[in-house]
Amino acid sequence: TFRAIRVSRDEAKTQSVDIVEMSTDDLMDGDVDVAVEATTVNYKDGLAITGRGPVVRRWPLIPGIDLAGTVLRSTHAGWQGGDKVVLNGWGVGETHHGAFAGRARLNGDWLVPLPENFSAKDAMAIGTAGYTAMLSVMALEDAGLSPDAGPVVVTGASGGVGSVAVALLSKLGWTVIASTGRPAEAGWLRDLGATEIIDRAELAEPGRPLAKERWAGGVDAVGSHTLANVLAATKYGGVVTCCGLAQGMDLPASVAPFILRGVSLLGIDSVMAPKPRRLRAWKRLAEDLDPAKLRAIATDIDFDGIVDAAGKIIDGQIRGRVVVDMS
Ligand code: NAP
Repeated sequence: TFRAIRVSRDEAKTQSVDIVEMSTDDLMDGDVDVAVEATTVNYKDGLAITGRGPVVRRWPLIPGIDLAGTVLRSTHAGWQGGDKVVLNGWGVGETHHGAFAGRARLNGDWLVPLPENFSAKDAMAIGTAGYTAMLSVMALEDAGLSPDAGPVVVTGASGGVGSVAVALLSKLGWTVIASTGRPAEAGWLRDLGATEIIDRAELAEPGRPLAKERWAGGVDAVGSHTLANVLAATKYGGVVTCCGLAQGMDLPASVAPFILRGVSLLGIDSVMAPKPRRLRAWKRLAEDLDPAKLRAIATDIDFDGIVDAAGKIIDGQIRGRVVVDMS
């Protein structure tokens, strides 16, 4: 048996969260069993555990969208016992039993190999948030944007996606403007590579359709007015990526930046991203993420701290990334 976090609902759809003992017989179908060695708490896991967003779509469920561990048993051609693997998304922790357990039974097609220079805990310090930051940077590059075009703004900079994006972009030679609501983290953000810190309040309220051109690109994890204002202040021909909704799911913007400045808005999805793109992102993370910065981004918690961290991340109180050592 192993310990697991289980979210359930009663007839009135009131959600409860328990720590329970489970056995491998309780797991869902899959062709690979993995001993979970590390996991993490993403914003989406916070929504799942607190019930503040419709993430869990099958009840009862073990949440947790990210894990790293070792294959125990496999009938999938691509994996055998002893292989070190990483899982991000694919509906795990939403419709399939997830990472907050000692064991996971998964579809082998969902797994990627743990990059050689990462431990299980390093991979979870990155997790879906960091892998999504890498997908966002790759999208800017694939759109033809390069550091000589001008600075890039990163919103939600003290969060998981934001902090990894700051570290990656600065390593790749970009001038990074970090937008944060936490002025106390300015020093930490500068150490990660931010050149300029702006108060997120500047971007949080309804703004004009076009504003003074401030940046050539943006990595946004916040949505709502923040994304609209980022677009309005993007230079001619600039590119902005959109992956999150920490401020809101709405996008109260105008077409002005697109039709008058040729600005592009690129959507980023990590959950169903095809395998070649995932493999490329993990290879790039192994090359382009400074290990010292990754250590500065990560905070260790234990299994019993997951539920508390879930509430804190929704309240915007988690800095960088949390890592859960499950071994
Ligand atoms: P996180 O660690 O909580 O980071 C979010 C950050 O946004 C916070 O740290 C905070 O940064 C800022 N923020 C929070 N509330 C805000 C508000 N009301 N107004 C403005 N800014 C606010 O979460 P995460 O795990 O990095 O995820 C960030 C977002 O991306 C989430 O919405 C998540 O669901 C989404 N996401 C999407 C994908 C995908 O595949 N599309 C993948 C990963 C994540 P400051 O304190 O620095 O202001």
